[in-house]
Amino acid sequence: MARINKKTGFATCAIHAGEELNTSSSHTNPIFQTSTFRFTDAEMGHSLFCGDRKGYIYSRLGNPTVQVLENKIAALEGKNLYKKIGGMNIKTEVYPLAFASGMSATATVVMAVLSSGDHLITDNILYGCTNDLFLHTLKRYKIGVSFVDCSNLDEVKDELKKFPNTKMIFLETPANPTMKLSDIKAISELCGEEVCLVVDNTFATPILQRPLELGADIVIHSTTKYISGHGSAIGGVALTTDQELFEKKLYPMIIDTGGIPSPHDAWLINLGLKTLALRMERHCQNAMEVARWLVDNPMIEKVYYPGLDDFPQRELAERQMDGFGGIISFEVRGEYEAAKKVLNSVELCTLAVSLGCVDSLIEHPYTMTHNVVPKDIKDWLGITPGMIRLSVGIEDVADIIYDLDKAISTISKPMPKTEAKAVS
Ligand code: PLP
Repeated sequence: MARINKKTGFATCAIHAGEELNTSSSHTNPIFQTSTFRFTDAEMGHSLFCGDRKGYIYSRLGNPTVQVLENKIAALEGKNLYKKIGGMNIKTEVYPLAFASGMSATATVVMAVLSSGDHLITDNILYGCTNDLFLHTLKRYKIGVSFVDCSNLDEVKDELKKFPNTKMIFLETPANPTMKLSDIKAISELCGEEVCLVVDNTFATPILQRPLELGADIVIHSTTKYISGHGSAIGGVALTTDQELFEKKLYPMIIDTGGIPSPHDAWLINLGLKTLALRMERHCQNAMEVARWLVDNPMIEKVYYPGLDDFPQRELAERQMDGFGGIISFEVRGEYEAAKKVLNSVELCTLAVSLGCVDSLIEHPYTMTHNVVPKDIKDWLGITPGMIRLSVGIEDVADIIYDLDKAISTISKPMPKTEAKAVS
């Protein structure tokens, strides 16, 4: 069994980490499709429940197949996390929890950390359902929420001053769908000890960005996306380096709320995760080529991709990420009618929500993923009726561009345009 150490690379980690839990001789990890586990005697059952002995009890409390997935993501998110203790480099433990979906991870983390009367500060650009959870549901539990532009540190500082009861800052970076970035390290410094910094790392994956290294307290993923890559399972994960937070808040909350993944889904997601490093390399290459091609297309008004030279946060992207990712948003000239023509004309790209699959997925944030966000908020944030989000797959890039070219050419010729610009 491969030993993972400080020098082991990300691709090797993605393939081998966590797999040592397989004590059978099967090459791939078995699926422990069971709800419960046998005790050899009554004493064993009692000692497991008391925590005097380690072992599996019941799959809501822990399952070996789920644990392989958890340990693998923990190895990736925490790969470079070492503490100097007495002159020695000691590996920082990362505590992972897998969930039935990304939203289950987010909702459980929020419920575990926040109580009635607390305040949450979040960026104003978020995945639609996360926005809905914060905007509507938390209100019913008397948790206040400020939506601010977290790319502006002064706004975050002002909000922290205004709400001394703030217990959490929640970021999505890059954010869905405008690709806006937030400076994780700078915001973690504003958080200090009292405020828990949570980062949704779904768009970047641990291959491109590791928020725990940058000072985040909790990192979340929808594992439905790049982590699995094949689009055949829904899942989520939350990870922290804070043992007390994990043992006293996160783990008890998943036990109480029960949002665990099935062993079969965890197994599928783990299988996909093994190729993450290779896939991300190709997603990034293809997205960069497609973004540059879009900038030069006269039918395209704006392109949102952190890798473009004139993306306003390009410097931050280079500093905090190891690649620019595979998601591009762009605005077509001619608003919703033109966007619909493009969406209805693609053949290779699949018209579907979700992202991070090996195949290219295209969707309309205004009426689909961000349909639940109130219209005035969407207008304010620049999520426009002409915006299209493309999750660039790992097909041959020439085929993706050929498909887009054909689809975009169905829009009637616009007036000569002044300039295509990358915007944040
Ligand atoms: N976070 C981000 C950035 C997302 O894009 C999504 C879904 O699209 C989620 C969280 C929710 O994930 P899930 O659909 O697995 O619940």
